Amino acid sequence: MRPDILNPLFAEVTALKGVGPALAKPLERLKIARVVDVAFHLPTGWIDRFVRDELMQADVGRTIAIPLTPREHRVSRGRGPTRVQATDAHGNYVSLVYFGGSSGYVKKLLPIGEARLVSGRLEQYGQELQIIHPDLGEPGESFREREAIYPLSEGLTSRRLGALATQAVERAPELPEWIEPGLKSTREWPAWREALARVHTDPADAKARERLAYDEVFANQLAMALVRQDTRRRKGRALVGDGRLRDLLKLPYSLTGAQARTVAEIEGDMAQASPMLRLLQGDVGSGKTLVATLALLIAVEAGAQGAMLAPTEILARQHYETLRKTLTGLLVNVAVLTGRDKGRVREATLMGLADGSIDILVGTHAIFQEAVRYRDLGLVVVDEQHRFGVAQRMLLQEKGRSPHLLAMTATPIPRTLTLAQYGEMDVSRLDEMPPGREPIETRVISEDRLDEVVNALGRHLADGGQAYWVCPLVEESEKSDLAAAEMRAEALRQRFGDRVGLVHGRMKPIEKDAVMAEFSAGRLGVLVATTVIEVGVDVPNARLIVIEHADRFGLAQLHQLRGRVGRGGGKSVCLLIRGNAMSETTRARLALMRESNDGFRIAEEDLRLRGAGDMLGTRQSGEAAFRLATPEMIHDLMQCAQDDARLLIDRDGGLEGPRGQAARIALYLFDRDSGVALLRSG
Ligand code: ADP
Ligand code: MG
Repeated sequence: MRPDILNPLFAEVTALKGVGPALAKPLERLKIARVVDVAFHLPTGWIDRFVRDELMQADVGRTIAIPLTPREHRVSRGRGPTRVQATDAHGNYVSLVYFGGSSGYVKKLLPIGEARLVSGRLEQYGQELQIIHPDLGEPGESFREREAIYPLSEGLTSRRLGALATQAVERAPELPEWIEPGLKSTREWPAWREALARVHTDPADAKARERLAYDEVFANQLAMALVRQDTRRRKGRALVGDGRLRDLLKLPYSLTGAQARTVAEIEGDMAQASPMLRLLQGDVGSGKTLVATLALLIAVEAGAQGAMLAPTEILARQHYETLRKTLTGLLVNVAVLTGRDKGRVREATLMGLADGSIDILVGTHAIFQEAVRYRDLGLVVVDEQHRFGVAQRMLLQEKGRSPHLLAMTATPIPRTLTLAQYGEMDVSRLDEMPPGREPIETRVISEDRLDEVVNALGRHLADGGQAYWVCPLVEESEKSDLAAAEMRAEALRQRFGDRVGLVHGRMKPIEKDAVMAEFSAGRLGVLVATTVIEVGVDVPNARLIVIEHADRFGLAQLHQLRGRVGRGGGKSVCLLIRGNAMSETTRARLALMRESNDGFRIAEEDLRLRGAGDMLGTRQSGEAAFRLATPEMIHDLMQCAQDDARLLIDRDGGLEGPRGQAARIALYLFDRDSGVALLRSG
């Protein structure tokens, strides 16, 4: 239950004075529903206002506040603005300009001879000074010298939001301190309530801002630390393989150093009674499948079963084939199960799982349905982890006696973001590519030269090559996304006939698979696709990839798409088609793609160029995002927050002591309280 002390903050926003139906919509658009949302709607900047009693040339370009007396109304004919000639105390003139609206309204607003406090940006217009659409102070009111600027939606002004924030801060209680005292004093951070008040009155207050950001990052890490503690407390089972199956593996190559190191880490984890909770991060093509295979074999050697979860039907089947091939002659029984398997086939698989005759099951999330019972599930491997949230991850672990978990992702996110997203896990990185990979040659080409690209594709096909053609991701509309892909496929068909195939997200899995199979078998030369090919698909003979509107993709995603080629021997090429209007940042980002094939480096740079918002934005559904901490702050504070959170849990796992209790409040404050339930059950 939420601590009572937070009640004033968790009241509906309508509890604030002046918030009626008219403000409901604009606030809703800013995702402000509760008082706490107002408090956490932080200013993004500020204007400094120069308080004057005399108009001065030197103030042109500045925002000033000054008492003025209207002297004359000048109404222009037609649609021109209404001007109010006004003077300061020294008789200097300025023109207050109102566009649109009726002149009658302006006359009423600023009657001749009645002095008003006026604020706005002073501008020079010909010989005159002017202020366009000035703010008018109410009688007796003065303007703040520094005024916060808030992110707005239509119908709201910064002053309005500032006034609401003031009320929200007034309601905010003093909260007990959850930050470790040493840290707080080294960083010179104010107490929570003071920080909140300061941020709204002086948006430039770096210490106050940093403190609030830390609170948020800390809550994030604490929530993860609770999940971690909960998993580790569960009674799992130590799985120690004797190597008999792994010894029989006949690999055409030896493990890379990174693979060997990772397998050793996994082996160490699995030998513990508390369940493994490990994330394997490895760039596309770094050989994660083999690591997973070895982990699964350890489980089987130890007499347990293993399961491998893939995000799509295509990938599940591909993993199944790969595993079967790799494990030929080992007497390991591998089966596949997806939503498509029905009737007798499905029954047989379920039976095999229940009686233990199936050692390894590969499939989509169908493998965790209620009806699927395992005799002894010891290890779960989740491929392409970013498609699954923490909640689903927990669900998987309900099957079996808290099986060991290995999650794999090819999205090379920067280290600090890895902590933000997977803070409850231990992380292994495959930071070394199998030998003999030629880097993919990447070129950035203007969309004006699409004809040349099609010609190049023609030559590539004539040489017996295969290619992907990825169509733009159109935001907000899956439909137009699809339309673009269909049009491109049609255009390419006119030139290359039925060697052109099309896959997109709206196809039924069975149709998708059919097209993929055709492409895989080489009967199709070009596969036009929306981003469904993003994850894991493996066709070694495809050595060319064209990505339209590359400037609309995130770099991590581009990198992943590019990783579809360069999987066999020989040189591969990636053509990034760009639009003509490009920002400096976009230019720099595409240049980086050209220069580097290193996913981790690309991710770090992308973070620098673009900020974490987008990268975090695409990651997960249903988990709270960061509202107060900027990418730079996340970067600076995350490691510290993780250490601090884990330390707190080590000392006070039930969050019972004074700091523990305070930390619980932080969890609720940032909507990260789902982990609190784990405390009671644990
Ligand atoms: P990903 O990490 O993207 O899932 P895969 O596991 O699909 O990568 O591996 C990509 C390719 O590299 C596969 O064809 C695989 O057989 C090959 N591979 C994996 N490990 C090695 C290795 N140590 N040496 C050479 N090739 C390897
Ligand atoms: Mg893979």
